[in-house]
Amino acid sequence: MARIFSGIQPSGELHIGNYLGAVKNWVQLQDTHPGALFCVVDYHAITGSYDPAVLRARRWGMAKSLLAAGIDPTKAALFVQSDVPAHTELSWIFTTLTPLGDLERQTQFKDKSSKMESIPAGLLMYPVLQSADILLYRADSVPVGEDQIQHLELARDTARKWNAKFGQEYFPEPKPLLTPTRRIMGLDGQSKMSKSLGNTIGLMETDDEIWAKLRPAMTDPQRVRKTDAGRPEVCNIFQLHKAFSRAETVAHADAQCRTAGWGCMDCKKVLQESMVQELTPIRRRAEALDAEPQRVLDALASGANTARAIASETMREVRGYMGLDAVTIPTDTLA
Ligand code: ADP
Repeated sequence: MARIFSGIQPSGELHIGNYLGAVKNWVQLQDTHPGALFCVVDYHAITGSYDPAVLRARRWGMAKSLLAAGIDPTKAALFVQSDVPAHTELSWIFTTLTPLGDLERQTQFKDKSSKMESIPAGLLMYPVLQSADILLYRADSVPVGEDQIQHLELARDTARKWNAKFGQEYFPEPKPLLTPTRRIMGLDGQSKMSKSLGNTIGLMETDDEIWAKLRPAMTDPQRVRKTDAGRPEVCNIFQLHKAFSRAETVAHADAQCRTAGWGCMDCKKVLQESMVQELTPIRRRAEALDAEPQRVLDALASGANTARAIASETMREVRGYMGLDAVTIPTDTLA
């Protein structure tokens, strides 16, 4: 049975890009893959400058949002990365196997570092820690969005290199599990929806807040007047319909757009209704957790216990294969 691991940064609120590209898939996979592990990766969120109080609040908010989105702590382990220190230990081991050039070639590193005057080494090492996150649990399937495919290639290279060097088929080569909505664009229609770009719709936003964001959102740029025929295939609003609306509504929106039967506002209004239908139960569950916050702490504590047990077994074996186990009196002259 495949083991599932995936992580999400507590760098801001959970948005519909994370939800559709990853988290919605997590909720389905926890039923088909008992023992899945889902991690709030706080060590990944400190590669830039940050405020510790804000990080604390965001870890809490992310854990609560994941539970509200449907992660069930009786089916999957939900935990915070820094509660399991072995992530950083295995990450160091993997840095010794990773060519610098492979890290410098990573698109996310190039994008993020190009805007910086002084580049923290942690930003470069980010995918190494990510490989450790996954391989610590010897996970072979990683539900993520399209933006993470390159990082997963690196994790596979690392697993192969470690296995070749230490003569074991110990680490599996983890593969991405993509959803049909593998890349959600931001409301600007220009780049992927991302916490760091401020072009998101949060999973907990109210009906009015969703509308305030949808109203000015980018549609087909060639559709200037309501009477112009639209091209749903290039319209971000139509892509969101495909993610949130029922198949009949999607087909209807497609036809209405092409024949200019609907204006973009009509189309957005119907989308808002579909979104509200899917997101309202999530917001209600979040409110229930606000009333009973101990449930969030209990889920994280139990998830961390499960994760630590697997992680310490992996590290015991890895240290053994690498000659890093307990020091013993030598029985030969190798030393
Ligand atoms: P962000 O880019 O907003 O900081 P993370 O890097 O924490 O998000 O990613 C968490 C998960 O959400 C990953 O699996 C990632 O692939 C997925 N994801 C993030 N943004 C999108 C998007 N715009 N479309 C689809 N999936 C996404």
